[in-house]
Amino acid sequence: MNPKVSVILTSYNKPQTVWKAIESVLKQTLQEWELFIMDDASNEDTTTIIKKYSIDNRVHYYNSHIDDQDRYKKTRYAVLINQAIPLTTGKYLSYLTDDTEYLPTRLKEMVNYLDRNSNIGIVYSGQMIRYVDSELKLISEKIRKPDGILKRAANRVDHCSVMHTRNIADQVFQKYRSYWDDNPKYWHNGDAAFWSRLNMFQSFYPINKVLDISYKTPYSFQKLNAYLPRKIPDGILVKGISSETYLIDQQKRRQIKDEMFGRLKYDRKKIVTLPDPVLFKYSCGDPINDKIFENQTIPNQLLVKEENSSDIFFIQDNKKRLLLNQRTIKKFQFKLKDIVQLNKNVIEQIPNGPPIDHNLSPHARLPDGVLFKEGSTYFLSDNNTLHSISSVVLKKLQFPLNEFVQLTRGERLFFKQGEPLNFVLFQ
Ligand code: UDP
Ligand code: MG
Repeated sequence: MNPKVSVILTSYNKPQTVWKAIESVLKQTLQEWELFIMDDASNEDTTTIIKKYSIDNRVHYYNSHIDDQDRYKKTRYAVLINQAIPLTTGKYLSYLTDDTEYLPTRLKEMVNYLDRNSNIGIVYSGQMIRYVDSELKLISEKIRKPDGILKRAANRVDHCSVMHTRNIADQVFQKYRSYWDDNPKYWHNGDAAFWSRLNMFQSFYPINKVLDISYKTPYSFQKLNAYLPRKIPDGILVKGISSETYLIDQQKRRQIKDEMFGRLKYDRKKIVTLPDPVLFKYSCGDPINDKIFENQTIPNQLLVKEENSSDIFFIQDNKKRLLLNQRTIKKFQFKLKDIVQLNKNVIEQIPNGPPIDHNLSPHARLPDGVLFKEGSTYFLSDNNTLHSISSVVLKKLQFPLNEFVQLTRGERLFFKQGEPLNFVLFQ
């Protein structure tokens, strides 16, 4: 017998919650379902949990084996759902993410509604949203109530609160040549993009009950992606969901070995957690470990000095730039506590770059990664160019907003202005 409903669960590295999502399907009061677990090449912690459920012959498991560096190119869950739909056999389709659980009557109530109203092709329900900490402890909760018959459901109904007929999905496919739009610009709201397609054919009909619970963790994509600029500037410390930390250096990510934090005066409080698909956009550069003191490239934007000399250098473009005097340190707000001591022979090996003067003149070459402010506008220097940057982006990137170099308009005009580092909704 064919199942009534095909549930498509998309999964990526959520070992703490993915089992709840799966078990919530197993516990449904309606029996005639099939579950497609579409795993996006998760870590072992996650796949070990998921695979346990394959013994149930209603559960089908697929692994995308996507390479990490390709992750950001498409909206991954849209890709996975598009792969799943042709494999499914149910009359109705329903979606689930790995941080959401259906309440036990979810499938039965929606199936009954669609069965009874053969002219209706799309139903949706209310949702309980639970904000939790990294240990899943409840911080607060709220209910997203259904809001009548929706001609425009985009951004008003969650991914996990909808059921529709296969028939209407086929109509979408005929019109758009795909089901879900996997363009990466919809990563933050791929469900909304699909609801707009569905709405071309029909309205969404409400079931006035909460039928699923969604957990918002500190690691949810929406949260991590908020206020990120399209390009993470050099000099920012970043990590993804796993514990490895990296420095963005010449637009590559260089893994920082734990013991190097203290030695290079990096501040763990400044690490920015990125969604993995964004982190993996940056290819791997040389790791930052003991070897940098021998022959590997010293990270850029570091302040260094030799043990027995008073000369202080700023590393930029893999060269050392001498700070010409005390006023240079003051001008650019370099901090003495950030200076890293190096051996004479290590310093000598680093080629010389142009020295840094405290004077801002048309001939000056700015140090990279310095925050400037003119009037109420912030600018970040990179490659002798000033990029305007908004305060929400600065906060996201862990810049203290009160530490900046004051700039006059005249001084600003000495330098090229680059693309603003505004936040984007997609990467
Ligand atoms: N996802 C995916 N591949 C990835 C990242 C995420 O398939 O590389 C899936 C994830 O398993 C989930 C959906 O995309 O089913 C939405 O992700 P998430 O829950 O992190 O986003 P948010 O809840 O913040 O929208
Ligand atoms: Mg989610």
